[in-house]
Amino acid sequence: MRYRTLGSTGLTVSEIGFGTIPILSGNVPVLPDYCSPTLPEAVDIMTAAYRMGCNFYDTAIPEEYGDAEYKLGVFAERIGREHIIIADKARAADGNDMFREVLRSAENLGTQPDIYFAHQVDEKNQDETFSRYGALDALCDLKKAGVIGYTGIATHYYSVAKRAAADSRVDVIQTSGNILERGIMERIAEEPLFRSKGLILNKVYAAGCLLNVFQPSELIGGILHWPFSCALIGIGTEEQADAAMQEEYPPLQFSFEDVTARLAERFPPIECDRCQRCVCPLGYEIHIVLRQYNYFHLGKHYWARKKLRMNIDEFAESCRRCIDRPCMKQCPRKLRIPELIAMIREMTE
Ligand code: SF4
Ligand code: SF4
Repeated sequence: MRYRTLGSTGLTVSEIGFGTIPILSGNVPVLPDYCSPTLPEAVDIMTAAYRMGCNFYDTAIPEEYGDAEYKLGVFAERIGREHIIIADKARAADGNDMFREVLRSAENLGTQPDIYFAHQVDEKNQDETFSRYGALDALCDLKKAGVIGYTGIATHYYSVAKRAAADSRVDVIQTSGNILERGIMERIAEEPLFRSKGLILNKVYAAGCLLNVFQPSELIGGILHWPFSCALIGIGTEEQADAAMQEEYPPLQFSFEDVTARLAERFPPIECDRCQRCVCPLGYEIHIVLRQYNYFHLGKHYWARKKLRMNIDEFAESCRRCIDRPCMKQCPRKLRIPELIAMIREMTE
């Protein structure tokens, strides 16, 4: 295992971190295929990763990660709390709500989290999260009081990540990217504001989808040149821990075209890298819909189809009536976005 420095925190973190979604049990409607091990099994899996050099474990509140906080706390006590770094998170934009969530997390873990993220910060809840008495202020107060070590913002949106990078209250940013969905990370790599922040990367396997086409060595090796501190891999078995952590994978350079050519052996992919430069004035999240099309063809049939059906009729109709189509002018890949949305609508019927 190799190690990197986490921004200005002074922490040294393993290059590969343990994402606890696959070890959760409980009724959490995010993905249908969790491994859901028992408590002793989960502790053994986390221990196996630790023995391979992992020192970074990421979790979230019960509404999102079931009993993962509790399982992680039991593991931390068994292995020795001082040997690992615990990152936790809650979806709360209001300061009072965040305050309560952090205290609840500390109780579930049986210890204090090292880093606590405001989770799923998006374009709708960001103003409240960053405002006076919002979630970020609460995290700062909790840091001053010694309840958490460092503050964090977790987001899938480049605009929110950049706002966090410009905010001195934020220590660590967590965002998503992989060899296909590389747009956010490529923009982060170019933006100096991020250089003093710790950066945690998730969705390296794209919720497992990319494992149907690529090996772990390719998915991990292909991102190593990016400026993150720790890349989280969701681990639900000891075999998965072995695949992600036992090898020191060499860096690989995959061009975007290499990646889409591999996908094209299975289905015609939409060549969107989720750079998020396209902004629809009507508020449609183009990159999310295009991603779900690729995820659908990569095996997440039920999950992706459900998400695609949510507003695709209205979206396609708006595109049909749109005269200026500003999104197409903003797309560096020259994607014909309205036609792609119409094609996806047809596919979901
Ligand atoms: S074509 Fe118009 S309505 Fe459709 S995504 Fe682009 S900007 Fe939005
Ligand atoms: S459609 Fe184009 S601009 Fe929009 S996220 Fe995808 S690649 Fe970027």
